[in-house]
Amino acid sequence: MSLTGKNILTIDCEDFLELPAFKDLKHNADLNKMIDNQVSAILKELHDANDTKATFFIVGEIAKRNPDLVKRIKEKGHQLGSHSLKHKKAYKLTKSEFESDLKESLQQISKASGEVVECYRAPMWSYKPKMKWFWDVLSKNKIKYDSSIFPISSMMYGNPKALRIIHRINGIVEIPPSTFRILGINIPFSGGIYFRILPYGIIKYFIRRLRKKCNQPIIMYFHPWELDPKLVKIRKISPLYKFVLYHNTKNSMKKFRKLINDFDFTSIEEYSEISV
Ligand SMILES: [Zn+2]
Repeated sequence: MSLTGKNILTIDCEDFLELPAFKDLKHNADLNKMIDNQVSAILKELHDANDTKATFFIVGEIAKRNPDLVKRIKEKGHQLGSHSLKHKKAYKLTKSEFESDLKESLQQISKASGEVVECYRAPMWSYKPKMKWFWDVLSKNKIKYDSSIFPISSMMYGNPKALRIIHRINGIVEIPPSTFRILGINIPFSGGIYFRILPYGIIKYFIRRLRKKCNQPIIMYFHPWELDPKLVKIRKISPLYKFVLYHNTKNSMKKFRKLINDFDFTSIEEYSEISV
């Protein structure tokens, strides 16, 4: 059932145990098996929800390690994007380091899928306005769509002054995750910990109100690990990380299922085709 028009669904494919919270963790977990199970569960949910399509931003190292997974995502009709090579924050790289990171990630994803990659999302929304070269490097590497700017104020990322709707920056289409504005403050709700904390009724209300007010697609983002009800438990992490990474992961797949059945979602590519 569709409560509004088409919206955009994005999935950031990254390894849970490679996140900064676990940088000192020694493990012998099978990362391929973990990401494979998590992504397969999402592919099944999308198929069951009227064959919903999404854009999968993939870490290049995963494509290198597990080309079959990338191929499978593509064969199901989803769009592929880059989520960097090793999930390192973009603002910590120099221009040339960023460019070689981007290039190799694009190569790995294309090699695995045979597809030209036109979308990019920086790990952990790590774009900063001082990175003036960012847009030139993306253009030079044939990126048409970027989704690296979260228009919120938070401890770790975001720019509350950034535009909240789809817009162009130096010719590249910028697709920011949706936010709901209350009393001049942009409230995040469209993925990650925000989606897991908020009751589904509030998320549904935000989506309907925003659609009515702006007539723009809602842009949502998810990580395969946060939709894993059996997410591996690592105890030795700070209480803050514990909260951010684990809060409500047990129930988030159920919530995700409701979302993709209540609203119409598609990939960036498909959305662009129908809206142009
Ligand atoms: Zn990420």
